[in-house]
Parts: sequence; structure tokens; C-alpha cells
Amino acid sequence: MNVYDSERMSDTVNKTHSLVSSPDNADAILLNTCHIREKAAEKVYSEIGKLADFKNKNKNLKIIVAGCVAQAEGKAMLQRQPIIDAIIGPQKYQELPDILSNKTNKRKIFLEFDEEEKFFKLGNSRKKSLISSFITIQEGCNKFCSFCVVPFTRGAEYSRSVNDVVEEARSLCQNGCKEIILLGQNVNAYHGNDSRNVQTNLAKLILELEKIKNLDRISYTTSHPRDMDEALIDLHASSKKLNPFLHLPVQSGSDTILKNMNRKYTSKEYLNIIDKIRKKVPNIALSSDFIVGFPGESRRDFKETLNLVKEVKFAHAYSFKYSKRIGTKANRIDCDISEKEKNERLQELQTLLKDQKKNFNLSFVGKEVDILLKGKGKKENQFRGATKWMQTVIFECKKSMVKSQLKLKVKDAFDNCLMGEIV
Ligand code: SAH
Ligand code: SF4
Repeated sequence: MNVYDSERMSDTVNKTHSLVSSPDNADAILLNTCHIREKAAEKVYSEIGKLADFKNKNKNLKIIVAGCVAQAEGKAMLQRQPIIDAIIGPQKYQELPDILSNKTNKRKIFLEFDEEEKFFKLGNSRKKSLISSFITIQEGCNKFCSFCVVPFTRGAEYSRSVNDVVEEARSLCQNGCKEIILLGQNVNAYHGNDSRNVQTNLAKLILELEKIKNLDRISYTTSHPRDMDEALIDLHASSKKLNPFLHLPVQSGSDTILKNMNRKYTSKEYLNIIDKIRKKVPNIALSSDFIVGFPGESRRDFKETLNLVKEVKFAHAYSFKYSKRIGTKANRIDCDISEKEKNERLQELQTLLKDQKKNFNLSFVGKEVDILLKGKGKKENQFRGATKWMQTVIFECKKSMVKSQLKLKVKDAFDNCLMGEIV
């Protein structure tokens, strides 16, 4: 979502500013920040520290901090770092043009939750379009999982209207976009209004997007198991454009831990959803997020996570060590698990997930896949593409032969990519 937000912020100032490749030539430097885990938040302060030299050389340089760390620590940040000129929370990006045109030295701080105004002012027309582009359709969260800062940094759940999303998608597809990835902290809780001003759901929004002729692929992320309704599951079977890919974070396989996390589902309920969707789309790539070392997680709880992973067989996954976040409910629980134990659990889980990813990818060897071109590879004449199962395929090809859409034969597979050649 921060990638999307950065694109939209740069769109808002494209009449007066353009992107430069080095901070040496910049009139303004904007840091867009993530607060989800401690490590990401810490990085921000060391990055700001590195910018002091640029400010010393150019007194007119504006340093702006945006995103969730700005939202969570804005006021303290201004005090701690005198070189910062402005702080903008995730729902105030519409203020960027004013901040950049401000000639005074007055420091500015914008932390209100104004989603409606933000999307209204950002508009639905996109200046740049990639072959695979993001659109935020939903923001914020009302679920309050006990480990998570999102409800505090992004605010309450908000959905954009169907018309706004379709208009934005059309503007992207007029300029070469072929795949749209719908974004939301809880994307399947989407409940924007349709053209008759009636609340709708994600399945209905996707059906509207499918009508866009040039659009070939649609994906959505991140979903919550509680909002995985029948209409959405059915759509995976009937839709010609929805990618056979579902990112559905489970976090843990232990019912005790899930309860303490306030996830409001059991491992059995999660497995039932997986069962239903696999019956409809047998070749679907399933993906998930995991947290190890949540306070009170016993070795037995952790084993239950491993068992769930063994049962599902994921094609893709993200896994993290639990990170204490100020303001969350779990922050008040003492964590009794040593760092060493947390590292060992993470390692064990990641080894298993890596094997599963590799097995999923190996099942494609010998098959033909359609790819969208994503960019260059590391070597000369090497390129990267993406399948509709969201795998990266590396292939070699003369520059003059490369096209934005290609059919490749898969020759080999690893845990993080496929190797292909042009058919
Ligand atoms: N809305 C999604 C997740 C959004 S946050 C959901 O409910 O599943 C993205 C991921 O970051 C989470 O799935 C979780 O695995 C991880 N995460 C969030 N807070 C964390 C914390 N305090 N420590 C470690 N990982 C965390
Ligand atoms: Fe955070 Fe997701 Fe839970 Fe919302 S549902 S609080 S975004 S982990």
C-alpha cells in the first residue's frame, strides 16, 4: 500500500515537481514509512539522520515524513528531529502540494483521518500506468487484532465507491495496464457504494472491473478469513479474470493463540475455507502470513502452526517474529519466549514454507504459462515476468524480441522463481 500511496503522492505534485534519482538534486525529500513491526519503524530514524548533510548544504530543502510512523510518532518525531519540515499521516496526502509550495519555515503536521477528502482530492485519474498496477479500494481496520497497529495508524475501515475504483481502473487500462491488484488492509471487508448508492461487496466490485475490456487479470490483497464470503469464493470458480491466487493470513495454527490474538476464527474454520476454495479452484496458489513467538506461544502451540502448514501446503508465505507495538493489547502481556527460541521457531517454519513453495513451483515444470513482463533480470538479455499464480519467471530473450505479454515454457523451478523460455 505504501508503493501505491507514494505513486499517488507523486501524482499530486507532478505539475510542479518531478522525481529525481539522487537526494543531491532534490528540492524535497519524502520518506514514506511503515510502522507494522519495530524494525521498519526504527529504520526511519536512521534514514532521517542520514539526511542532515543534505539539509546543511541546501537550507531550502524540504524534508517530509509520511506514512504510519509519521501518524504514530509525528509530534515526538518533530521534537527529536529538527530537520523535518512536515509530517503527514496516511489520510492527509492531499496536503503535499501545499507543503511543497509553502515558502515559510513553519513546520507542519497533518494527522487527521480524512479518507473521504483524501480520495476525493487525489482523484481517480492516474498519471502513470504499469502493466500490473495497484489500486487501494479499502483502508483502515475495525478488527483490533491484539498485536496490530493498523487500526491506530490507518484508522477505521473505509471503502471507496465502485464508480471511483472503476474510473481509476479504466484510467490505468487506457495506458497499458493489464493487471490490477486491489489493495486494502482488509480488502475483502470492502463495502463501498454502487452506482445506486447501495452498499456492495468485493465480489460485486470485481464483477464490475471485469467489464473493462483491456484488463486481463485481477487480484486482491490482504484478505481476512472472517470476511471470506461465499460470493467471493464462488467468483474464483466463475471468473475469467480473477487470478488463481489467494493471500489469506492465518497467523497461527493454535486456537489458544488465535483467541489471544483476537482473530475470531479457529484453525478448523480456516481449514474449512481452504477446503471450499480448493474444491472450486483446485490449482489455486494459497498464501499466508504467520507470526511466531506471540506472548504465551508454547512449543505445542507452535507445533499446531506447523501442522496447519503441512495440511494446507502453501504456495507462498510471509512469516515474522512477533514484534511488540505500543498501544496494542498484546503489548501489555509479558513475552516469556527467549529471542533464541523465537529465532529457532521462525527458522523451522520458514524451512517448511520454503519447501512447500518449491514444490508448488516444481509442479509447473514442463507447462506453458502466460506472463506479464515485469522488468529486466540481473544478467544481460534476462527478463522477469509474472504468472497469474503470482510467481516470478526469469527468462532470456533478445531485447528486440521482448514483449509485454508472452507465453513461456517452464524449464526449471526454485522456491522463489521459475525459469522459462519463450514458446
Ligand atoms: N489485515 C491483514 C494483515 C495486515 S498486517 C490480516 O489481518 O491478516 C500484515 C502482516 O504483518 C500480518 O498479517 C502479520 O503477520 C504481520 N504483523 C502485524 N503486526 C505484527 C506484529 N506486531 N509482530 C509481527 N508481525 C506482525
Ligand atoms: Fe491488523 Fe489485519 Fe488484524 Fe486489522 S485484521 S487489526 S489489519 S492484523
